[in-house]
Amino acid sequence: MPELPEVENVAAALRLNLLGRPVTGLRVRFGGVFAPSARAVRAAILGKTLREVHRHGKYLILTFAADPSTTDSTETHLMLHLRMTGQVFVLAGYRPDKHVHAIFDFDGLAVHYRDIRKFGRFTLVDDPRQPSAIDHVGPDMLAVRFGTWHRSIAHRRAPIKALLLDQGIAAGLGNIYVDEALFRARIHPLTTPVALTRTELHEILRSAKAVLRLAIRHGGTTFLNFTNFHGQPGNFRRKLRVYGRTAEPCYLCGTPIARLRIAGRSSHYCPHCQPGR
Ligand SMILES: [Zn+2]
Repeated sequence: MPELPEVENVAAALRLNLLGRPVTGLRVRFGGVFAPSARAVRAAILGKTLREVHRHGKYLILTFAADPSTTDSTETHLMLHLRMTGQVFVLAGYRPDKHVHAIFDFDGLAVHYRDIRKFGRFTLVDDPRQPSAIDHVGPDMLAVRFGTWHRSIAHRRAPIKALLLDQGIAAGLGNIYVDEALFRARIHPLTTPVALTRTELHEILRSAKAVLRLAIRHGGTTFLNFTNFHGQPGNFRRKLRVYGRTAEPCYLCGTPIARLRIAGRSSHYCPHCQPGR
């Protein structure tokens, strides 16, 4: 499942390759990935130029505008959520398989949308910064300030692991990155915020952002079938210190990495470096 780092890499690739290019065509093979409909999306973006790509958590918001020389000043905002298996890419010589549901033509550049599970969506939205369609989603994890985050989390009595996964508090931190961030901060995943000092909470947020930035630099962590804009997998997986390393020795102290279930998700941690309280 693409997480924040993968989505940020998609955003960077879209910005680098497509900003300033007009949409000259949209071929739809499965209309179900468009909301409210493929027809509405096509009418909204065709002939318009991509002006901005904004990321909020795992959501991308693409802003299209008409050429400034025309009298049409309306902007169109198209939100993309890749969900489980959505992929956006440009590949020279690529022959679309049955999982490619839409092909955008950006002035001669073919951009494919491929999605095996078909859960991903392109949705027309009203606002490029905080669309009403995602008003249940908290501030972006990389952009959130400590004061804001601290106010929404400090009084909570749930495990820190569950709260970091709660997209309503801050958006974009998935299971892998929560485990990695808590290992860096030396905090047991079951610890509750009320048992933590302000300094420890500060360290947790700092670690979460550091892990995300490192993963972005490495193209994300590829599981299942996620690849980047040009079809290459991310390689952050090699940097993981606890996630997926159950019973293997901790890189810092040699203690076997332990696993337990919290909020329905597997949690990996070092019992020595991250003692319970
Ligand atoms: Zn350890």
